[in-house]
Amino acid sequence: MIQIEHLSKTYDGVSEHHALTDVSLTIEDGDIFGIIGESGAGKSTLVRCINLLERPTSGRIVIDGEDVTGYSGKQLLKLRSSIGMIFQDFSLFQQRTVLKNVTFPLELRRDKKEHREQRALELLELVGLSEKAKSYPSQLSGGQQQRVAIARALANNPRVMLCDEATSALDTRTTVSILGLLRDINRELGVTMIVITHSLAVAEKICNKIAVIDKGRIVETGETAAVFSNP
Ligand code: ADP
Ligand code: ADP
Repeated sequence: MIQIEHLSKTYDGVSEHHALTDVSLTIEDGDIFGIIGESGAGKSTLVRCINLLERPTSGRIVIDGEDVTGYSGKQLLKLRSSIGMIFQDFSLFQQRTVLKNVTFPLELRRDKKEHREQRALELLELVGLSEKAKSYPSQLSGGQQQRVAIARALANNPRVMLCDEATSALDTRTTVSILGLLRDINRELGVTMIVITHSLAVAEKICNKIAVIDKGRIVETGETAAVFSNP
């Protein structure tokens, strides 16, 4: 369970500019939790706080009962490796093959070569891209590139995936197939998903719970069906 408690973030040098104000959320294991808001609402800031890329000005983040807000060094690296991230622009290594993109997190962990390649092939099979292992990202469609990014994000067996506008660069049909894949990963591997999006359609399609963020504040939160049925 991830508890975000009274999180506020003010950027240095920007007087009285509150990117987040008193944000509290509870994300339970197995949730597909949507965070919806328009551009500038504070979504990226919230993601960077959850991932501890950014320190909140006040408030705390508690994961499974443990306050992680002050983590640094090894604890921080361990926490980050338990969170898989995917982005709008896929962020793949262009000079590496698909297989080598997926083995990358395992190289950092110094896994043995045969082991990491075998694991990467399993993950590519899971995302339906076995036959592209030797291709380079530029040879793939956007949807295929996002599948590679998903496989890479799963390499460390994360309990949580942060999906930051993961389908925003994709057409509708590809979006539907990527959302289906994320849902399968949630159901079959039990990975909790945090889905950051400006798209109501995406949130409604995949999320069981959502929070709506506006000007750095949570203005609405609850089960997806209940939130969308509000007038
Ligand atoms: P979103 O991801 O929803 O578009 P952001 O979290 O990027 O929103 O931004 C929230 C607010 O904080 C915006 O007003 C943005 O300009 C501001 N902001 C974001 N990052 C910084 C930063 N590093 N320094 C100053 N202001 C920032
Ligand atoms: P992303 O969603 O990829 O984080 P953003 O537009 O939120 O993209 O931010 C891109 C970079 O610019 C980030 O490092 C962010 O901290 C910084 N940034 C965003 N808004 C501002 C701002 N108003 N002032 C200064 N830096 C900002």
